[in-house]
Amino acid sequence: MKQNLLFLIFTVLGCATIFAQSEKETIARNWLEDNKNELNIQDNHNLDMQFSRAGLSGETFRFYQMINGVQIFNAEITVHVSNRNNVTFHATTYDSSIETISTTPAVTEEQALEIALTNLNVEAADVTNIKNELYILKNNNQTILTRRVLVSAYTKTGAWEVMLNAQTGAVISAKDVALYNHKKDKKDKDQNTAKTDNSSIMMATGTGFVFESDPLTATTSLYGGQYVDNNDNTNAALDAARSSVTLLDIELSGGNYRLTGPYADIAELGAPNKGLFIQTSSDFSFNRQQDGFEAVNVYYHLDNFLRYLNVDLGLSVAPSGNGGVVRFDAHGANGEDQSFYNPGSQSVQFGEGCVDDGEDADVIVHEVGHGVHDWITNGATSPFLGEGNGDYLAGSYKRSFGQWSASDASYSFMFGWDGHNPCWGGRTTADTRVYPGGLVGLQGGAAHNDGQMWASTLMEVWDIVGREKTDKAFIEGIAMTNNGTNQQDAAIAVRQAAIDMGTAGGYTCADIQAFTDRFTARGYTLPAYTCNLSVDEFTANSISIYPNPTQGVITLKNINQDYNVAVFNMLGQRVKDLNVNARANTMDVSNLATGAYFIKFNGVDTVLKFIKE
Ligand SMILES: [Zn+2]
Repeated sequence: MKQNLLFLIFTVLGCATIFAQSEKETIARNWLEDNKNELNIQDNHNLDMQFSRAGLSGETFRFYQMINGVQIFNAEITVHVSNRNNVTFHATTYDSSIETISTTPAVTEEQALEIALTNLNVEAADVTNIKNELYILKNNNQTILTRRVLVSAYTKTGAWEVMLNAQTGAVISAKDVALYNHKKDKKDKDQNTAKTDNSSIMMATGTGFVFESDPLTATTSLYGGQYVDNNDNTNAALDAARSSVTLLDIELSGGNYRLTGPYADIAELGAPNKGLFIQTSSDFSFNRQQDGFEAVNVYYHLDNFLRYLNVDLGLSVAPSGNGGVVRFDAHGANGEDQSFYNPGSQSVQFGEGCVDDGEDADVIVHEVGHGVHDWITNGATSPFLGEGNGDYLAGSYKRSFGQWSASDASYSFMFGWDGHNPCWGGRTTADTRVYPGGLVGLQGGAAHNDGQMWASTLMEVWDIVGREKTDKAFIEGIAMTNNGTNQQDAAIAVRQAAIDMGTAGGYTCADIQAFTDRFTARGYTLPAYTCNLSVDEFTANSISIYPNPTQGVITLKNINQDYNVAVFNMLGQRVKDLNVNARANTMDVSNLATGAYFIKFNGVDTVLKFIKE
């Protein structure tokens, strides 16, 4: 199932770039040519367009800087073309000083892996994931052909990156590039998770207990009294803080239910080994002192959050690997009071120190927020943005439960159950520092600290324009950025995304003004903008479907021309074809089996997903 789904996503999203240059790509290429001097593009460097993402605001193209077909590490020019076919944003980490060097490595991939494992003191048997890539790297003013080996290991927390000289084998650097929720700033072959025969897998509905979004938020309580960790023990108050929820589209295979669905997949990724909680009942009801509770809580919040982004908002947000599904280990990270997103394996692990991290949706969404950032930028995640992005998405998710009042201190608590207690202080989305003077810098944990300014500003916008419009502009805006983008440029990108979505995206001039006002008050300098949102910003990208989930007929909204429509199931099989237009815009799906489906429109890059109940 996973491989086929991956193939499908790659096919439908990648076809425009593989087979034919789209109109928008031509516009991006022409813009690059017109701005060659300003961007200081050198004749001996190629710019290779290897990744594009179509979204509600237009399409973003990533041109990677190359010499002889080898990519310069972290060097790209990112160009966004709006629905009106204008280049409205660009970001560049292009390095004109890169010298032309030999791109034939003396060190083989196998030798590089051996050097990396020795350097990291990791046994080959402990390795769960490896990426082995050739890059050109600028290091100490020298241009070096480099092998980058990214290693994940079962008992070594993190995602370890070893950069080594591809001619001499000398190690240039070795560091952990996993993205944590707090405290630290620092070719798939996963074990223990191999799926067997996929033919008998069905989607089913389960039930379980979760915290929405944590036991203090669910009951509007403060940490203390019955509401304390107490070595993971439960009590009547903490049991009562649970909500019973439906677990949608979980896997049923041979009579066994598994916490795997269209958005999240349980896996054993890091110590300790607490298993996969596969069971013959669809009832996953646990209390917090049972390990199954965190597995269900993590699965539910990952699914609920990613389903909201993809189905409710109509955004394309999924990992490129793992069949488009994020893998999670609710009891990993060697049991530390720490959780992380691994960009090598596109997975998340949650530790168990103090409050189990898997009990707090702030931690869960923060970590998968690093994943969202990774997926929509094809890995070009800015360290200036990552922590703030995760805190914003977690804050937006928690605030959507509507439990706290703006006058409550907990309204702005980040990690309100995992933190803000004797274990650690947590963070806030009520940071009032002004940019750039308020920045502490990126060293020594400040990425988390400074990220609070970015997340807090976005939450101010959220309070004015609401969850969906802030989230859409945020995702679409961050998708235009790259690894060199700072908070100010990200603010420009987020507001531009709202402008580019325009009235079709539900934005008014007052909404745009709210972005401008809050960003400007924070100290971000934005270009002047005179609001001119007109209805002609309508595009095919604003097509949406309802009801979703559906049991019978679905209606396609905002169809203004004829489309050939193809429906694919999760196995990548084409299950339905039809024509739609403004008059014939319904689709009878009553004969389709229960499960998740993708709809692809001819000539449109956006893919819609719906659930048949
Ligand atoms: Zn983080």
